[in-house]
Amino acid sequence: MDNMLNPKADVIVVGGGHAGCEAAAAAARLGARTVLITQRRETIGTMSCNPAIGGLGKGHLVREIDSLDGLMGRVGDAAGIQFRLLNRGKGPAVRGPRAQADRGLYKDAMQAELARTSGLEIAEGEVVDLVVDATGRVEGVVLQDGSRVRGGGVVLTTGTFLGGLIHIGELCRPAGRMGQGPCLALSKRLRSMGLAMGRLKTGTPPRLDGRTIDWSILEEQRGDNPPVAFSFLTGEITTSQVSCFLTATNRRTHSVIEDNLSRSPIYSGRIESAGPRYCPSIEDKVVRFRDRNSHQIFLEPEGLQDHTIYPNGVSTSLPRGIQRDLVRTIRGLERAAILQPGYAVEYDYIDPRQLTAGLECKFLPGLFLAGQINGTTGYEEAAAQGLMAGLNAARHAAGMEAAILDRSRAYIGVMIDDLIMRGVTEPYRMFTSRAEYRLSLRADNADQRLTPIGIKWGLVKSPRAGAFADKIRDLDKARKMAARLILTPDEASRYAIKVNRDGIRRSVMELLAIPDVTFKQLGAIWPELHTLPAFAVEQLEIDALYAGYMDRQEADIAAFRRDEQRAIPAGTDYGAICGLSTEMGQKFAAFQPATLGQAARIDGVTPAALSVLSAHLRRHGADGREA
Ligand code: FAD
Repeated sequence: MDNMLNPKADVIVVGGGHAGCEAAAAAARLGARTVLITQRRETIGTMSCNPAIGGLGKGHLVREIDSLDGLMGRVGDAAGIQFRLLNRGKGPAVRGPRAQADRGLYKDAMQAELARTSGLEIAEGEVVDLVVDATGRVEGVVLQDGSRVRGGGVVLTTGTFLGGLIHIGELCRPAGRMGQGPCLALSKRLRSMGLAMGRLKTGTPPRLDGRTIDWSILEEQRGDNPPVAFSFLTGEITTSQVSCFLTATNRRTHSVIEDNLSRSPIYSGRIESAGPRYCPSIEDKVVRFRDRNSHQIFLEPEGLQDHTIYPNGVSTSLPRGIQRDLVRTIRGLERAAILQPGYAVEYDYIDPRQLTAGLECKFLPGLFLAGQINGTTGYEEAAAQGLMAGLNAARHAAGMEAAILDRSRAYIGVMIDDLIMRGVTEPYRMFTSRAEYRLSLRADNADQRLTPIGIKWGLVKSPRAGAFADKIRDLDKARKMAARLILTPDEASRYAIKVNRDGIRRSVMELLAIPDVTFKQLGAIWPELHTLPAFAVEQLEIDALYAGYMDRQEADIAAFRRDEQRAIPAGTDYGAICGLSTEMGQKFAAFQPATLGQAARIDGVTPAALSVLSAHLRRHGADGREA
């Protein structure tokens, strides 16, 4: 370690990627003395792959992180050079904010956020071991130079670095990502401690020199004007905005790939671990979709002052020469020069089924895991886990119980529950389809769902807490006004609004729920509606759109929360529960569910076993648990 580091902290965060930054900032916001240890300080906030934040499902996570005063939304807004609200044509529940980011600006903005976080110390070093006391409690880390740092909670966010192995064609070398070595010692140590681990892989495309691309023949894709920001605190996006461009592979590209498949480590058998199915390499796409003659490619600039172009859609680990050949078959890229070859990286992950809902290792108390180490992929997934792990490490260090977001409150809760209950067989990424309560869990209402919880947990303070209070005051006023202004059916027909002649008076909210009735139309009837701020109008329109579905969803959520609040005491002896089969008892004992709801989601658990367990909890007076 080349810097003097305080040997004692409340929370130690290992890794300066997306999970590590949020974990460290969250712990420090709670008032914990926090130290972030990472291999290289200048790589903090590095985007290893695509220079973009958000998207479908992922944009929801960014808004939720922001609502808990996390960093990613603000940093994304400071670094965004093209913003687009995806799925604009669909319902608000599945719209996803996304931004192309300037890679350098993103890293700088993230480092600046951490630099102004009080109570946070940053140190360079490689963590090679954990300090574990005689009872199995993790209470610190050991660095490569032998020095030790002790802390009340340790958060590992080591990304793709544990046992990392890069593949480019026949070449294969140990590395965490391009330009950085792997972490072998820590990986070996975690395995020796008995943690169940597996291997996954991910990949990235070659980076191109934008000066060698023929832009004049390519289709331009502009961003939204005005841009839609991630953070609820961002007033206006001030960074210059740029366009992306579209091109596509063709039959010739596919021939180059097919002719060289045996040189791709995935097809030569050198990589056996699973990669992300929904984000396949170009080799995978060509093999799996043989009937397709073309695959779309987005040419995305990596920065305002940077000629590097990220060709989104051609992730590959073919040999460098073949990468050049295949790139040059593509329209507009006939003379393109490769600045950095694409590659695949294999790495160790830890089976997340060994974690509690607070992201703590069940049998290594004090050890929290977040990010790619848990089998996820993506900056947003990593950041969201990082925030929760940092929060819970700080609470653990302060002797408090874990803070949990359940599936009904947040996409963050959906992701953590999926991970700890089901584990992963391929890198896990967020989709809106993973959330059963997605009509409630929208990107637009993330602050209304989570900021009050963040305030209660001590994560959210001023200025966000003040801005949120102002917003809710305006929104309440708008909602009251919309409930107060009413029309009879006769009056409605005078304004050409078609409603049943049932004598029932209808409010602005009820009228807005009628297809084709617009806010503008109602503003012509009640001019005071024009005094409402734009955000409140948008919120009323969305509330009205979903009002009819919400009652049912709220009933489902209430039933779900009832089971989530029925805590199962730690150390329950399932073998002693009368009427529970041995098989079911073993399942519960192996998983150690914390609530009846969790028990119900264990794979293969029968309704009969659940009702026996439920009756047992009733008899033994297990109490409820607040989320
Ligand atoms: P990282 O961002 O990897 O950060 C890990 C941090 O831990 C680094 O700062 C590292 O230096 C530090 N560290 C590791 N070990 C130690 C140690 N022992 N001691 C001290 N510090 C340590 N995501 C997508 O969504 N789509 C993709 O297509 C995609 N492709 C990818 C392709 C590649 C080649 C790579 C490398 C990543 C890709 N990703 C992709 C994933 C995305 O980059 C990660 O999901 C995200 O960065 C994970 O964040 P993290 O914080 O968990 O880890």
